[in-house]
Amino acid sequence: MNYSNENIDLAAIYNYTEYPDKQAGRCDNCDHSHFQSKVKDGKFLRECRNCGMKEFI
Ligand SMILES: [Zn+2]
Repeated sequence: MNYSNENIDLAAIYNYTEYPDKQAGRCDNCDHSHFQSKVKDGKFLRECRNCGMKEFI
């Protein structure tokens, strides 16, 4: 895994399998632990409530 915080694209949707949390339950981008979840394309989409980073989980 060779990505850093600077590379996170908030317009993109990441996959948890490819980009697991560096710290479980925390946003990789801003380190917040509050998310909102919704279903998109039949998958759970987790969106950080602070920075808006999106990830399929
Ligand atoms: Zn965040």
